[in-house]
Order: sequence, then C-alpha cells, then structure tokens
Amino acid sequence: MSEREYDVVVVGGGPSGSTAAWDLARAGRNVLLLDRAGRIKPCGGAVPPRLLEEFEVPHSLLVARARSARMIAPSDRQVDMPVGEIGFVGMVDRDVFDEWLRERAALAGAERRTGTFVEIERDGGDMPLVCYRTERGGGIHKVRAKLVIGADGARSAVARENIAEAENMRCVFAYHEIIRSPESTPQGFDAGRCDVFYQGRLSPDFYGWVFPHGKTSSIGVGSANKGFSLRGAVSRMRGDLGLAECETVRTEGAPIPLKPLKRWDNGKDVLVTGDAAGVVAPASGEGIYYAMACGRIAAQTADAFIASSDPATLKHARRDFMRLHGRVFWVLGIMQHFWYSSDKRRERFVSMCADRDVQQLTWQAYMNKKLVRARPFAHAKIFFKDCAHLLGLRPAA
Ligand SMILES: Cc1cc2nc3c(=O)[nH]c(=O)nc-3n(C[C@H](O)[C@H](O)[C@H](O)COP(=O)(O)OP(=O)(O)OC[C@H]3O[C@@H](n4cnc5c(N)ncnc54)[C@H](O)[C@@H]3O)c2cc1C
Repeated sequence: MSEREYDVVVVGGGPSGSTAAWDLARAGRNVLLLDRAGRIKPCGGAVPPRLLEEFEVPHSLLVARARSARMIAPSDRQVDMPVGEIGFVGMVDRDVFDEWLRERAALAGAERRTGTFVEIERDGGDMPLVCYRTERGGGIHKVRAKLVIGADGARSAVARENIAEAENMRCVFAYHEIIRSPESTPQGFDAGRCDVFYQGRLSPDFYGWVFPHGKTSSIGVGSANKGFSLRGAVSRMRGDLGLAECETVRTEGAPIPLKPLKRWDNGKDVLVTGDAAGVVAPASGEGIYYAMACGRIAAQTADAFIASSDPATLKHARRDFMRLHGRVFWVLGIMQHFWYSSDKRRERFVSMCADRDVQQLTWQAYMNKKLVRARPFAHAKIFFKDCAHLLGLRPAA
C-alpha cells in the first residue's frame, strides 16, 4: 500500500503545533497537522501583548484585558501591581484561540486531519510511518513523513515513544473551574484584574489564581504535591471570595511541565516542541507564548533539516530556544524554588512586590519576554533588595 508522504507531520494542534504548521506551510513545505478532537485545553488563558504582535494574532481574540495583578500573601496582605502604560495581560478562551490558529495553518496550506496519534512505525524505509486513529475502536491510518514534530502536550505520546527521559518529565498538576463572572462581590471581584494567591493553604508549592475572561472567569491552583487536594483548594478560594454561588461552567485539570527536557530530538527524524519539550516558564506557569516561540523554532529547524537531510540540525531547536529564553527560565526556576517553599518566604515575596522597581521590571520582563538590559542600576538595586529579603534584613511589612 502506498501511503501519503509529507515533509513534516505535526502531531498536536495546540499553540505550538499550529504555529509550527503555519510557518512550515508558509515556507512551502508539505505539512500535515494532526490533532485529536473534542477537548478544550484546560488553561487560564493569560497571554502577553507581545504574543499578539510576534505571531500576528488579532486583538479580537482577546476576551478580556487585565490592567493590574493583585498578589495575596499568606497573611491576606494584598499588594496591587498596576501594569501602567506599557501594556496589559490579555485573556484568550482556548477553544476559540486554538481553533483559530489551526485554521490559519490550514489557510496557509497545511493539511488538517482529525485523529489520535498512536505510534511511529519503522518498516525499514527511509521515512517513518505515523500511525493514527480517527475514532475510538476505528482502524489505523498511516502517513509517511521526513520529520515528525511532536506538539502533543505535556504527556506527549510522541516524546514518550522517541525521546529518552520524556517519560519522567516533572510536572505541576493544575486544576481550575470556569465560572460565570459576577458583576461584583463584597470581597472585591474585579473583571479588570488578575488575582494571584501565594498561600500554602491554597498551594504548598505553586500558586492559586483568579483570571477574568469577560463573561466567565478561571479560578485555579497548581501543585506538584500529589497528596494535596486541588479541588478542595479551589472550593476554599471560591468560598473566601464570594464566588461559591456562581454557576460552574466547566471543571478540568492538566499537568504543566516544570523543566525543559534535555533532548528534544531522537537524532534521526523526530523533534518535540511546546509542552511536549517541557517549555513552560517556571514560577509563573506561562506556557502559551513559549509554546508558540518554540513551535516557530521547531519549524525553522525542520525546514533546515529537510533542506540538508542532516539529522545533526535537529539539535539546533533546543539550542536556539535556550539561547533566547534559557536565562529567564533559570531565574524563574530559582525564584520558584526559593520563594514558593514556605509561607514565611511567600510573605516576603509578596512584600517585595510592593516595590516600584520590582513591579516595573516584572512587567517589562513579562511584556518583552527577556530580562531588560536598559536599566542596569535598577537590576542592581533589586538584587541588593532581594538579598536583604533573603537574609531577612528587611521587615516583611
Ligand atoms: C490549568 C492550566 C492553566 C494554565 N494557564 C496558563 C495561562 O494562563 N497562560 C499561559 O501562558 N499558560 C498557561 N498554561 C500552560 C499552557 O496551557 C500550555 O503551556 C500550552 O497550552 C502549551 O501548548 P502546546 O501547544 O505545547 O500544548 P497543548 O496546548 O497541550 O496542545 C497539545 C495538542 O495536542 C493534541 N494532542 C494530544 N495528544 C494527541 C494525540 N495522541 N494525537 C493527536 N493530537 C494530540 C491536543 O488535542 C492539543 O490540541 C496553563 C496550563 C494549565 C494546565
């Protein structure tokens, strides 16, 4: 039987796979985008304006814009961090956003198919066979590809089958409830603000959030501690915030990777990207922007691989991504490790957020996706303030 042949089969049509397929189609490559249907990705949906610019996403896909974040300490102390003139935190609904990205890839020339990846088969030919099912219990379909890009999320079947150590990827598990947003509550619900809870009773090692999405809101928590009840924590949050009586639209959860995998390719014909490669920013859990940035780099790498037929080019994907974002991931990893480890430290962390310099640099880093070099003195100042907090030399008030 002769199977259809593609330059690239992209498995997974989330932000990463759809971006990779879009770029490859625009580069004139023959690409298949395979995505299983029927599930909305559980996600808070917060994105920086830079994502809209860099990946040409229209503002009309935003369902809300938050202009401020409220950090809440274990003592219930609240610190507001207004974004100011430099931007906002955009909110997307993933059912609409992801479908728009997949459709854009198709309009650029990628072929779209709905199906669930099963395995890669090697029958001795030059190109691997990608096997997938179109429905539960249905037959297996097979297509050939020069390269398979695994963009199938945090528990990637492509990565587990082809990349060493992917099986053991460490994750935070995140759970959220989508509710109908109230107009207001006596506790101060604000549709223009993100609330972030740094409280051990809500998450022993990560944080809890309320993200407003216009008509709905996402209320969630994350933790890597398997014994901790995430549902219990969200229920507590809803009770505390006067949101218990709001209609619940959906409840859902999914893992968030904690660290990029050491290898993203199999040295031959498979490359992984996005959550499948573990690229979510530590401390914040921000993954959409990085999934798209990684998808773009995966597409560039795939293009070079197909042009050269040299498997050594596949390594460039991880190298190029880490050159751009490795430093930010490193700093955020240290932050998470240190500041999220006890209520005493969480209290200090929130009190540090009251500092104007910290606020400004945090928002600049979020908006620009790099550590801003323009103000070295501000960095130095924050470094010394940080040290003072670490050593307990500054009062937490
Ligand atoms: C509760 C929660 C809240 C979050 N909140 C935020 C947030 O506010 N902001 C933010 O930036 N990030 C957030 N994240 C992280 C973000 O959702 C992910 O990092 C991002 O979606 C990764 O994109 P991706 O394309 O790599 O993978 P995914 O979005 O997971 O997409 C994977 C795609 O692959 C498909 N797929 C999976 N298996 C198969 C298969 N076998 N065959 C075919 N297709 C398959 C899926 O259907 C899906 O379309 C959150 C995550 C969670 C769990």
